Amino acid sequence: AVSELKTYSIANIPADGIGPEVISAGVEVLKCLSEASGSYKIEFEDYDWSSETYKQTGSYIPEGGLDSLKKHDAIFFGAVGAPDVPDHLSLWGLRLAICQPFQQYANVRPTKILRGTTSPLRNAKTGDLDWVIIRENSEGEYAGQGGRSHRGLPWETATEVSIFTRHCVERLIRFAFETAQKRPRKHITVVTKSNAQRNGMVMWDEVAGIVAKDFPDVKVEKMLVDAMTCRMVLQPNSLDTIVATNLHADILSDLAAALAGSIGIAPTSNLDPTREHPSMFEPIHGSAFDITGKGVANPVGTFWTAAEMLRWLGEEEAADRLLECVENVCESKVVTRDLGGTAGTKEVTAAVCEEIKKSY
Ligand code: ATP
Ligand code: MG
Repeated sequence: AVSELKTYSIANIPADGIGPEVISAGVEVLKCLSEASGSYKIEFEDYDWSSETYKQTGSYIPEGGLDSLKKHDAIFFGAVGAPDVPDHLSLWGLRLAICQPFQQYANVRPTKILRGTTSPLRNAKTGDLDWVIIRENSEGEYAGQGGRSHRGLPWETATEVSIFTRHCVERLIRFAFETAQKRPRKHITVVTKSNAQRNGMVMWDEVAGIVAKDFPDVKVEKMLVDAMTCRMVLQPNSLDTIVATNLHADILSDLAAALAGSIGIAPTSNLDPTREHPSMFEPIHGSAFDITGKGVANPVGTFWTAAEMLRWLGEEEAADRLLECVENVCESKVVTRDLGGTAGTKEVTAAVCEEIKKSY
């Protein structure tokens, strides 16, 4: 009997700025990979939700839009944000409007110095910086709680309340320990600011202590977020898995991406570890309007994102192969300007497709 090939359905949301440029590069590479492998199929459906839609209709996601996403196995997301829409409206209008109802509570950000690229850190080379940052993605400082009163008056007050619930902190820290346990070094750094923030952050430390007992083979270290920034720069080799709050990990992961060479190379996975909802995969960078339409956006972050999406779907072999091919292309110096090269998005994409075909 002829066995049916496994088919994955992906929702593409390219959205704003360089989003469409990098997502179409990512789709091209994913198609090339599935055809070359012959072991699974991948189908795409495009969703044109963006800041343009918002400006025309007043909302990013049309009525019933979220429901229509549920039928897909994963969401492949570009970037949201436009110069003429306030950032908090675009972020909450599209990205968080998907992350929150879909319970994508674990935001996973691997970073490493890819072969053929260089780090701004003196002496750091491939292998010296290989981290995965696990960011809380459902509450904390970005819970959206708070408000303003007495607008415009000198005594105007604005509050931004951080919400930490034991349930959400525990599920995230447990996920982070599981991640650490699967990596060769089995080492986790729990980051807080529990010296200054004495409620949520102290609970975070307590929960980490309790969860740690279930992972006796994982070495745990605690760091304050300010000291952590120094540690990342001065001793990158001493870190492996890092878990932090929504705000702290947001900042640390931009630093991580820069230390690894460019914000254009790193991926982000927004995971619902229960797998009740589709998870969402996006490059770490934003919409980068300064380079939009110029054909120079680095697609490597999106390729790595595509690899992480495949890994989540169960296609480990294809994921590893894709990343291997991307690193080969970086090593051959077909790279964009942000990595010191002269290639455009299309040349890098074509080179990666060539490399994939060659690899089979
Ligand atoms: P956001 O608020 O969505 O995070 P941002 O304005 O903070 O966006 P980015 O859009 O990520 O930041 O851009 C930051 C800088 O990095 C810009 O100068 C941009 O051109 C550059 N950059 C971002 N992504 C890429 C990429 N894929 N390739 C090359 N350069 C990039
Ligand atoms: Mg940013």
